Amino acid sequence: MFSYRHAFHAGNHADVLKHTVLIAVLDHLLEKETALTVVDTHAGAGLYRLDGDYAGTSGEAAEGVLRLMAPQTQSDDAAPLADALARYLAVVRDFNPKGGARIYPGSPFITHHLLREQDKLKLFELHPTDARTLAANIAQLEAGRQIAVLREDGFGSATKFLPPPSRRALVLCDPSYEIKSDYGRVLDFIGAALKRFATGSYAIWHPIIPRPEAHDLPRRLRTLATKAGKPWLHATLTVKSSKIVTDATGAQHRPGLPASGMFLINPPYTLKAQLAIALPQMAARLAQDRHAAFSLDAGV
Ligand code: SAM
Repeated sequence: MFSYRHAFHAGNHADVLKHTVLIAVLDHLLEKETALTVVDTHAGAGLYRLDGDYAGTSGEAAEGVLRLMAPQTQSDDAAPLADALARYLAVVRDFNPKGGARIYPGSPFITHHLLREQDKLKLFELHPTDARTLAANIAQLEAGRQIAVLREDGFGSATKFLPPPSRRALVLCDPSYEIKSDYGRVLDFIGAALKRFATGSYAIWHPIIPRPEAHDLPRRLRTLATKAGKPWLHATLTVKSSKIVTDATGAQHRPGLPASGMFLINPPYTLKAQLAIALPQMAARLAQDRHAAFSLDAGV
C-alpha cells in the first residue's frame, strides 16, 4: 500500500525544520496550565536509529541533525546557536544521554517528552509496520491513557478529537505526500478542522518540489487561513537546487528533497521572531550548495 518509510529520512533537513518549529510551538503552548491535546495526524514509527540500516543507507541525517550537532570549525558562522535550534538539539540530546545521536525522536516522542501529566496525545499512523512499531515504542513509555495510538486514516479521523474538552489543541499534519491526492486531502482536512475548532493551533509540513500541487499548497493554505480570519506563519528552508543533474556519463540524477516548509495557523505570537533568528542559521549550516535559502512570511 505505502512505500514511504520515515526511517530513511529521520533527522534530515526537513525534520530539523519541522521539529524545531514543533518544539518552539509546544514550549509556548505549555506555558499555560490548562491541559493541551496534541493530535499528530501522520505519526510515523516514533523513534529511529540513525546508525540503523534505513538511516545508514540514505545518509540523510548526516546532512541534517548530525551536521547541526557537529562542533563548529572556525570558518563556520561563529554566532551562538539560535535559541530555537539550541532547544531542538537539547531535546535530541535528551534521547542520547551517552552522547552522539544514535536515536532520533520523531514527532510523537518529541511531543511526549515535553507534555505534562494533564496533557493528551493522539497519534494516527496507517502503515501496518510503522503503526506496530509505534504502538510498541509507545508501550515502553507506560503512558497509560495519556497517549492513544490509532491505526486509522489521520485525514479522515483526526477531527473527532476537535475541539478537545479543554479547548486547547495543537494539530500536526505531516503526511508523506507520496500520493498526489495528499495535497488536496491536507486542504480538506484543515478546512474541516478549522470549522470545528477555529481557535486551535495547526502546523502543516509540506515538501517544496517541482510539481503543481506542491507549489499550490501553501498558497491555498494561506487563502484558507485568511478567509477564516486566522493569523498564519509560513517558514521555508531550502538546502540545495531542485535541478536534475546530468553527470559525465549522461546519467540524470534527481537531487532528493531540496526544500520544505512549515505552515502554521494561529501560531504563537513569539514564533516569528524566534524563526527570524533560527532560519538563517539553518540555511547557512545545512546548505548543500549555493541555492540554500529560507523565507518567513506572516499574515492575518
Ligand atoms: N510526523 C512524523 C515525525 O515527524 O516524526 C513523520 C511522519 S511521516 C512524514 C508520514 C507518515 O504518515 C508515514 O509514516 C506514513 O506511513 C503515514 N501515513 C500515510 N498516510 C497516512 C494516513 N492517511 N493516515 C495516517 N498516517 C498515514
